[in-house]
Amino acid sequence: MSDDAGLRDRLDRYVADLFAPEDDLLRDLRDEMARRGFPDIAVSASQGALLGVLLAAVGARRVLEIGTLGGYSAIWMARALPAGGRLITLEVDPDRAAFAREFAARAGLDDRIDVRVGAAIESIRAMIDAGEAQFDACFIDADKENYPAYLDHAFELVRTGGLVLADNVFWNGRILDEDPPDEGTRAILEFNRRLATDERIRATLVPVRDGLAVGVVTSGT
Ligand code: SAH
Ligand code: MG
Repeated sequence: MSDDAGLRDRLDRYVADLFAPEDDLLRDLRDEMARRGFPDIAVSASQGALLGVLLAAVGARRVLEIGTLGGYSAIWMARALPAGGRLITLEVDPDRAAFAREFAARAGLDDRIDVRVGAAIESIRAMIDAGEAQFDACFIDADKENYPAYLDHAFELVRTGGLVLADNVFWNGRILDEDPPDEGTRAILEFNRRLATDERIRATLVPVRDGLAVGVVTSGT
């Protein structure tokens, strides 16, 4: 197992070096997150590049992210949008949201990245009420217990032909062998099962880092 993990890491590094070299801004962002004691749970550069490819593939202009942390994945995705594109990202922790805003500005992306503070489900309800709940893609990367609820919302929010993406769908392997599963593991198992069987989406899990779910919405609501 550890040899496999070592090989996977080296291949991931190869992909990142070739396709996703970090610029000074992304490096500063990682350093500063570490300095402030933020958890080391941002997507990898290789995942950032994959998110960008997927958004470009569907011509995404409006993207919703659930779970901002310091804005690392937000910056990767915002950079993949065309001029006039918009990424709304939801974060419950005001300090993290403020930090992400600061870095979005430093990246020259403050017109493209809109960080909203609050519990994601509340923010989503407010967007639906305000009539701004139309997206080309939704990237789910927040509290695992709510993944099934976020999937329900994604079907309301994402257009036909748009993407539902989610990080950590392997949950560090706990989806295979946690017995009995804890609440987060159970929620991810349910999320994955529904992605596999719901007729409104064509999806699979891509084994990059901790697993990235990729689904295309096949019928609108
Ligand atoms: N997408 C980020 C990492 C997000 S980490 C990146 O790759 O760079 C998950 C984030 O979700 C944490 O910052 C956490 O504070 C936030 N979060 C947890 N529960 C939440 C909720 N109910 N609503 C909004 N954000 C939440
Ligand atoms: Mg994650």
